Amino acid sequence: MTAAVCLECGRMKTGAWKACPVCRFVPESLEDRARHLITTDHYLKPDKLEAISREIQAGQKPQFVDEQVRAVMEQLEQIDKDPREKQRMQRVKLQVRLVLIALGALILSGIWLWVNRG
Ligand SMILES: [Zn+2]
Repeated sequence: MTAAVCLECGRMKTGAWKACPVCRFVPESLEDRARHLITTDHYLKPDKLEAISREIQAGQKPQFVDEQVRAVMEQLEQIDKDPREKQRMQRVKLQVRLVLIALGALILSGIWLWVNRG
């Protein structure tokens, strides 16, 4: 079970790429999928996810760190290119996590700035 945030309406949902139970939004583009993957409990603490959820429901648009989104998009693109890779999703997730850890400072400052904005 993956706790995720719908970046359209801000409600918590299960599974980054599943349809939102409230607004039915499904992330389809590479960028949308990368953003929804980042806002799951795989990469962010539950209290961070809840803060993001509240901000979106309050009408704010989530701000992502470009380097972070691009890094995840590159990993997802590699999975899309090679169908065999899909069976190795767990390994790719680990690689994505390592990239995110490397960008950790950027991510934290980006989310922090966004959550505390305004
Ligand atoms: Zn939604």
